[in-house]
Amino acid sequence: MTATSPEPFPEIRDAVRRLCARFPGPYWRALDRERAYPTAFVQALTEAGFLSVLIPEEYGGSGLGLGAATAVLEEIHRSGCNGAACHAQMYTMGVILRHGSAAQKDAYLPKIASGELRLQAFGVTEPDAGTDTTRITTFARRDGDNYVVSGRKLWISRAEHSDLMVLLCRTTPRDQAAKPSDGMSVLLVDMRTAVGKGLTITPVRTMLNHATTELVFEDLQVPAENLIGEAGKGFRYILDGMNAERILIAAECVGDARFFIDHASAYAKDREVFGRPIGENQGVQFPIARAYVQMTAASHMVDHAAALFEAGQPCGTEANMAKLTASEASWYAADMCVQTHGGFGFAEEFDIERKFRETRLYQVAPISTNLILSHVATHVLGLPKSF
Ligand SMILES: Cc1cc2nc3c(=O)[nH]c(=O)nc-3n(C[C@H](O)[C@H](O)[C@H](O)COP(=O)(O)OP(=O)(O)OC[C@H]3O[C@@H](n4cnc5c(N)ncnc54)[C@H](O)[C@@H]3O)c2cc1C
Repeated sequence: MTATSPEPFPEIRDAVRRLCARFPGPYWRALDRERAYPTAFVQALTEAGFLSVLIPEEYGGSGLGLGAATAVLEEIHRSGCNGAACHAQMYTMGVILRHGSAAQKDAYLPKIASGELRLQAFGVTEPDAGTDTTRITTFARRDGDNYVVSGRKLWISRAEHSDLMVLLCRTTPRDQAAKPSDGMSVLLVDMRTAVGKGLTITPVRTMLNHATTELVFEDLQVPAENLIGEAGKGFRYILDGMNAERILIAAECVGDARFFIDHASAYAKDREVFGRPIGENQGVQFPIARAYVQMTAASHMVDHAAALFEAGQPCGTEANMAKLTASEASWYAADMCVQTHGGFGFAEEFDIERKFRETRLYQVAPISTNLILSHVATHVLGLPKSF
């Protein structure tokens, strides 16, 4: 929110800030060097109940809306921490909540709410399909009481730190489906029994500490009772979840932008060169002010998209536009912050270079900027489709 209007959920924000203060820069730097998972941080968030805010009270969560979840993630990122290690624990369960059977909800949601079960792996992307999700080829063949899954997924984050994974696969080949988006299904895969019995997980080292992996399925048996909703309708089931994901990641970008603006402002007031604080120079001030304006615009768009989602209204365009604006605002702020710090922007101990690498991801994942622009061009403005 802006300087002129109060931030929503002040108690939640305050509590998240206090928790994050226990996990300062040195904690994240040590993990970053080793590409290690922030287990203690995730455990603390779980115990404080912040990862179950979207789960209804009847299943043990706090039953809050997406706005509360955006406040949690924004504050995590503003504090210099990184919610990417566990943000999916908040929203991946949405596919069970909205489309699962009563038995599936009873079996899984209370344990996800308590943190006894981690459902924070979401398997969609494949190396050969890329953004064109209808081209996925990971196939689940029905065989008696099981599905038998074969195929390959890439960039599946937190797979090694999840008990369960929501997997999108084909149950009808694309060329036999009525529409390209038909014939895909969602399976809940129990990672604890799958690994080594048809599922191989290989970590992919990237420019940031993100616990992302490649998955290979070789005749993995998944009980048919783990199908979510109806076979063949999986693509539409995951779309709601994708809107929530985009809004929440946009909130993380707003938090990142705030981190960079806070740090740049403090440094510009403190650092003296040519006998005066560098922040006295408008050449230094203006990029910080511009970053603040862009972050504020993004923050309003996140709030608007979250309000639509909470009201159960269509919000695909708003979620996409909030993600685009917020990821560009955080990247502009990141670049500005490095520039404001001069050489120190590159020093590990300032955490700016780490956050700079972390926030770059969000112009590519979970959906890249071009694909959002294409959505706006064709779905909102009625321009001709190019693909
Ligand atoms: C660290 C990390 C974590 C991730 N975690 C997950 C995860 O947990 N689960 C999951 O399922 N996926 C995950 N992803 C995948 C992510 O969602 C994809 O990388 C992203 O959607 C882009 O897809 P792609 O990499 O296949 O790019 P491609 O589809 O190959 O596109 C490459 C480039 O071409 C552009 N492009 C492609 N087609 C067009 C077009 N028609 N017009 C204009 N431009 C076009 C794209 O915008 C992009 O810039 C993750 C990725 C990363 C890097």
